[in-house]
Amino acid sequence: MPRSPVTTGALILLALAAPLAAANRQPVFEIDRSDAADDDRQRGVTQIMAMTEDQMLALVPESGGIFFTECPNCETDAQDYGNFTWTASKPRQLQCRGCDIIYPNEQYPANQTLTVEAPHDGELRFDYYTRPDGFRIFFDARADYFAREFMEKRARQLAESYHLTGDEQHARRAALILLRFAEVYPGYPYIFDYPFKQTIIYPYNNPHIPDMIPYRISHFSWWAHMDISQDLLAVYDLLREYAPLSDMAGGDARRMIERDLLGHMTRWVISIADNYSNMSPGMWRDFINAGNVLDQPDYVLEGLERVERFVETSFHYDGTWCQPTFSYDRQVASALSHVRDALSRYQPPADTDAETAARIRRGAQRVTRTVDQQFETLYNATLPNGMYPPVNDTWAHDRDKHNDFNGAMLLPAMRLAVLRAGDDDEQVYAWLNNTGAGHHHDDPLDIGLFAFGRELLRDIGYTHTGWRMWPNATMSHNTVVVDGIRALTDEPVQRTRLFYTDGHAFHIAQADDDGAYPATRRYRRTVALVGDQATGAYLIDVFEVRGGSQHDYLLHGSAAEDSTAVVAGATLSPFAGTLMNKGVTFELPSSEQERGSPGEPYGFVRELRSGAVESDVTWDMRLDAEPTIGVRTHLVRPTDATVYTGIAPRIRQAERRDALLADFMAPFFCLRREGDDLRTTFIAVHEPVSGEPRIESVTASVDGDRVVVHVDDVTFTLTDGSWRFARGGETLQLGGEGNAWSGVVNTFDRTDTGGWFDVADHIDEDASLSALLIALPDDTVRAYNVTRIEPRDGGTRLHVKEDPAMRIADGKIALVSCPQRTIEGEALRYTVYAATRSQ
Ligand SMILES: [Zn+2]
Ligand SMILES: [Zn+2]
Repeated sequence: MPRSPVTTGALILLALAAPLAAANRQPVFEIDRSDAADDDRQRGVTQIMAMTEDQMLALVPESGGIFFTECPNCETDAQDYGNFTWTASKPRQLQCRGCDIIYPNEQYPANQTLTVEAPHDGELRFDYYTRPDGFRIFFDARADYFAREFMEKRARQLAESYHLTGDEQHARRAALILLRFAEVYPGYPYIFDYPFKQTIIYPYNNPHIPDMIPYRISHFSWWAHMDISQDLLAVYDLLREYAPLSDMAGGDARRMIERDLLGHMTRWVISIADNYSNMSPGMWRDFINAGNVLDQPDYVLEGLERVERFVETSFHYDGTWCQPTFSYDRQVASALSHVRDALSRYQPPADTDAETAARIRRGAQRVTRTVDQQFETLYNATLPNGMYPPVNDTWAHDRDKHNDFNGAMLLPAMRLAVLRAGDDDEQVYAWLNNTGAGHHHDDPLDIGLFAFGRELLRDIGYTHTGWRMWPNATMSHNTVVVDGIRALTDEPVQRTRLFYTDGHAFHIAQADDDGAYPATRRYRRTVALVGDQATGAYLIDVFEVRGGSQHDYLLHGSAAEDSTAVVAGATLSPFAGTLMNKGVTFELPSSEQERGSPGEPYGFVRELRSGAVESDVTWDMRLDAEPTIGVRTHLVRPTDATVYTGIAPRIRQAERRDALLADFMAPFFCLRREGDDLRTTFIAVHEPVSGEPRIESVTASVDGDRVVVHVDDVTFTLTDGSWRFARGGETLQLGGEGNAWSGVVNTFDRTDTGGWFDVADHIDEDASLSALLIALPDDTVRAYNVTRIEPRDGGTRLHVKEDPAMRIADGKIALVSCPQRTIEGEALRYTVYAATRSQ
């Protein structure tokens, strides 16, 4: 147990009521008045009031404690921390829930000691047990960690109870605990407390542990992101009107609490070089709350400055967080909403100058706009069951609210196009995903399909299993694998080429990613959703690939449940070989860090069968639990190809249970074409099915860049820059002669709600436009959603939903949103298409 020879327990307490001018302000911290919180508070207060003051104060530890402490007696630890119980009645004891063993004990003796310097010539002692491999385990410091959290929480409950009931006994107990923390906290050591690594402990006066990641040295919790105690800040906040506090500790109590405890904590965390990660906003909220409670505007301004920089540089220009995953976007939105709330509660001192006050107001507005936009996007993007499209590292089990918006949408910076029609059980939702980098999968131009309340064409999403090689691999996605290896995801060459919705029954997206493979000159997918609801709807899918000597068009069964697929159009027989290239070997990975060689993930596919294409191929995938529901894919080209089927992992259900990974599989389908310098146009139509399939006939032809697809009485014609959809006498022409504009951008700017681009062409204000494409001098393309067309003298102003997020200066264009980049040249060129209908 950490012990200090300096006795600081005897407090000089003067409880003489010296009424202060009651600071007439609302508490910064709100009190949770739910029934559960009320009950919990009642129990907590009763427990503390049953102790003597000395018993209570003895529970405040003299170190923040150590979190990552395993049970060496069993294997029930998660991430190197044991599943222990701790109680205030036996505060030096831990019991393992996994094996019931109680520490300390003679089997695992903590018979060695590490000492560090403490204030006033004292020392702190940390007893530990040494595992046979030399790893040190600090049971006693783990107990301190429990005790510290326990006392923070109880102090807050007491202060809340005082605020609610006016019971001064509760205030006194809360004040005593707070003061005790103020006495011991300056002596707390700095600890490197990290899973699977030796704990390092430095004394109170030396936070400089060499070669450590910032924030992984802690002075209170287990990492510095959490080192400003919100509970203790709340205690001080709620005791504002408790007059006797001012007389405690010989009249020194407030100074000790403000300077030695809460101020010290805040200054410590502020002093660390910020990495502006998804963990940072929570800490900035703490700066703002500390500044608010302690009347320290500098802390508030520090938090504000950092959040402003974060909002400017750590988001895509479409307002999503920098990494292409909804789960992390949601986490950041939630953390930023706490910053927003903290700013909204901030009450600047009366003498705050007007400029600073205005700056705080503006900052708060900017954060609010960012958060509102994030949540709007998140709620718009959810599927009818509340899940996000599980692209990249998005958890499939996350659920969120859904807005009323059920239309198609383009997230142009994340490069995710959502094609959607219908409501609830009749909603059909498809996506074309072309997102790089960071928390991404190697999945360029992957598609997904959801209908009749079920995931049909899937993405596995985020997982933490030993087989993570598979969900991250190109081969586990509904895309095209070239030359049997993983695709690259290079953001600057991922281009949106078209996004258009008629707002009703026709939605189309086209994107290319020529850099997906070293061998490809073209790697382009066009998907069009036709239909106003799931029943009768279908997704036309044209995938053009040029270059390489092997093209594999892949489809996968549901990741959520058992499914079965039936293939027609090829006679399949068992295939003893592998889909892997010659010389590639496969070994099941044992940890989620292993990603394998570029072609290795094909080794996950089992029970292979194969057969040459004999006629048009259909792949009919049905859910085992409800076989009337599924997807039927008609693949009409190419015909000189080989079909392979098999089963491959679907991973999700084995999360945290690696032993079950092999039990959860999904049907796998591959249409493979081989030859020298291949040019392949895969043409498929995916029909969500509930009951009997409806499509009777799919045919297609390819002539150079001209592709024609017939689905029953509908004809879809695609050429470079023109898309035509015809049914009976009705046509919808998108792009092509008279429906396309391109040229230079004269000027552009951002606004509070997005931005605009001025172009020289006259575009009719009622035109039905596609997304605006802005080409930069290095041939990268950024898309923007047009919200309004404003005719102006000498041209047109195209108002867009997104921030242009560019600055031009000195012959260069700086992209200011994430990812930042500077491009030589100043010329921006634009392209936009209109749709016209005729009958
Ligand atoms: Zn155990
Ligand atoms: Zn994926």
